[in-house]
Amino acid sequence: MHVSAIIAAGGRGQRFGGAQPKQLQMLGGQPILRRSVEAFARCAAVTDIIVALPGDVLADPPAYLVSGGKPLQLVAGGARRRDSVAEAFARVADRADVVVVHDAARPLVTGALIERTVAAAARSGAAIAALRAQDTIKQTDASGRVRGTLPREGIYLAQTPQAFQTAILREGLALDGEVTDEATLVERAGHGVVVVDGDPRNVKITTPADLTMAERLLGGGETARMRIGNGYDLHRLVADRPLVLGGVRIPFERGLLGHSDADALCHAVTDAILGAAGAGDIGRHFPDTDPAWQGADSLELLRRAAAIVRDAGWAVGNVDAVVIAQRPRLVPHLEAMQANLAEAIGCEPAQIGVKGKTNEGVDSMGSGDSIAVHAVALLVATL
Ligand code: MG
Repeated sequence: MHVSAIIAAGGRGQRFGGAQPKQLQMLGGQPILRRSVEAFARCAAVTDIIVALPGDVLADPPAYLVSGGKPLQLVAGGARRRDSVAEAFARVADRADVVVVHDAARPLVTGALIERTVAAAARSGAAIAALRAQDTIKQTDASGRVRGTLPREGIYLAQTPQAFQTAILREGLALDGEVTDEATLVERAGHGVVVVDGDPRNVKITTPADLTMAERLLGGGETARMRIGNGYDLHRLVADRPLVLGGVRIPFERGLLGHSDADALCHAVTDAILGAAGAGDIGRHFPDTDPAWQGADSLELLRRAAAIVRDAGWAVGNVDAVVIAQRPRLVPHLEAMQANLAEAIGCEPAQIGVKGKTNEGVDSMGSGDSIAVHAVALLVATL
């Protein structure tokens, strides 16, 4: 039996955030996409593989996509998932008996799950991996009010892989319409689709919290439960600006120049915790081109960043920062800075270190033309 696998990796993962597509994010030391592709490359039931990629990734594909043991083709994905699958399907060999479609965002798929989905499709035409609903199913109206309770019996949550006899998937893909999986098209084309037992570990990685959960499932050990981040910021000292550091307004004849309150300590700490969580940086979440952050209270930006990191499954273990300022003397203010940072992050002041340092008169910091801050943050997994 000739089985072609289509790996849908054409999207950017907008819900995930991050500069690079989520399928290129690391999971247990390997990119998500690599794990998904290699699961199919290792599976004896699969003959060849077609991967639909974002155009920029296709232009410079990672090495693991060009040196596999099995025949592997790369194609440019489309705007929608179904377009990516259609682009890949156009490359499927005429002799293929079954086509199995998989979402690259499910990197923990097992060979056994691929095999039983393919076998069911070979027998019955179309088959999907799905999990029987365990929770009580509520239906709500637009305002979130419960309209009713659906009987749980017969409710399944669809996963991928989804496998189809080639002619059946061709019929489905010929239909129009917005869908979130290929089985929907095949159902609309009038074909029966059977369910095979999905795998609760076959999670879909949509948000950073899902990635953290997948790390847990992989059993990454203690280091996978901690992350370290580094942050740095520098602002120029100019006349006619208040000097704000760690949310403390410090009496001084000059202040830091910037779009927000230019609180370099908050900015460096914000970058350290975002960086540790792999959640981007301050410029991405709070761009200085956005008027919303004009004159912004940087403690509020830190508070929001801490919420992003918390939602991704991390708690701040500790933060340590060095403020490099020739003048003024910072010692009288350090305790208040630590209290402010702790309050914004949602931890105890004892978890925050802030130290002042002069620059021995050297460079722009030493000459009093700027203040710079270095910060590190340790995050501890909560999920
Ligand atoms: Mg800054």
